[in-house]
Amino acid sequence: MKNVVLLGCTGSIGTNSVKVIQDLSDRLKVIGLAAGANVNLLEQQARSLHPAAVSINSPEHAEQLRKNLPSETEVFCGEEGLIRLATLPQADIVLISIVGTAGLKPALAAIRAGKDIALASKEVLVVAGSIVMSEARKYGVNVLTVDSEHSAIFQCLEGRPPESIRRLILTASGGPFRKTPKSEFLSITLEKALKHPSWVMGRKITIDSATLFNKGLEMIEARWLFNVGMEKVSVLVHPQSIVHSMVEFVDGSILAQMSTPDMCLPIQYALTWPERVASQRVKTNFASIGTLTFEEPDEDRFPALKLAREAGLRGGTLPAVLNAANEIAVESFVQGKIRFDQISILVEKVMSAHARVEQPTLEELLEADRWAREESRSRVARG
Ligand code: NDP
Repeated sequence: MKNVVLLGCTGSIGTNSVKVIQDLSDRLKVIGLAAGANVNLLEQQARSLHPAAVSINSPEHAEQLRKNLPSETEVFCGEEGLIRLATLPQADIVLISIVGTAGLKPALAAIRAGKDIALASKEVLVVAGSIVMSEARKYGVNVLTVDSEHSAIFQCLEGRPPESIRRLILTASGGPFRKTPKSEFLSITLEKALKHPSWVMGRKITIDSATLFNKGLEMIEARWLFNVGMEKVSVLVHPQSIVHSMVEFVDGSILAQMSTPDMCLPIQYALTWPERVASQRVKTNFASIGTLTFEEPDEDRFPALKLAREAGLRGGTLPAVLNAANEIAVESFVQGKIRFDQISILVEKVMSAHARVEQPTLEELLEADRWAREESRSRVARG
């Protein structure tokens, strides 16, 4: 039996993780659940899964949970609560699916307490990949991935060393604007940007999939997870989202991992690794899919890819700045303060204005993150 802590249990990945854990209740047990603001869903999940502890962002919600949940369930709140859950003595693995950078400190706390982590929150590695991976090596814990593309690469690699890799090929659906002419980018509405062709996900990642910033963040994430240089990470548009990613090995052989798109599969693999456990959730019928197609991404319409490559290549505090500026740009687009095409323009401007620190400490990374948010907000306010 593996004891699992779920941070971000009320979101899209969080609720799929609950389904996977319920499917495999003879192997996986939830011992900690943390949410942001959705107190009702957290209470409902706690009633059915009986975790030892829960955590929620605000003290008011925590008070409500203390009143409503059985007294044996410990209730924590805020950042401190996330860290308490991530380091519960009986936890074996901590799945982090909190949107944004709030998962970074709990991820490091879990690693330092000797827990394996399963990462959906790509921001954790984008912001502090060097520190997170070196801490994981130091404490001898596994950083498993819940992102479908990275899970695909992990499954293709099966532990082979970075020297065996010629190229990682991250596939991208291309998002809802794959065929939209550049001239129409000015009038893309929020409603259209929220319609993803293959996946149902949280709001932020759905917008990121429309700008391709999601793929950009994934390029940096892949670089850290698989310990390769940015120049070995490439992107290929594959609209059917059946090939979740591929590895081209040094001998020219290419392995791909495929299935119909369903996040339960990479979640389950991260939680049960190194075993493969039977599940009836995902079934793929190639005859009905018919055709798999591939095309080069258009970096002129989707500058996110070249911005992310630049951030990944130059490193230091720049990836943290790209990530934070993009978060504020997406928030501003959602609030109707900027247009869709201005998201990447804003990120580029903030990256250019940043005084990069070459080998930052965690504090310097968090400071770069804070600076980029402030700089982005003030640029949005100035118009
Ligand atoms: P959602 O927006 O659906 O969910 C976000 C989760 O984070 C919610 O549970 C939310 O709680 C929680 N949360 C937000 N802020 C805090 C906080 N301060 N403390 C505790 N919990 C918090 O996002 P997704 O599930 O789509 O994505 C989560 C992460 O996984 C992102 O990093 C995304 O990039 C990544 N990912 C997602 C995929 C997907 O298919 N959705 C695929 C691959 C990666 P509440 O709702 O209670 O406020």
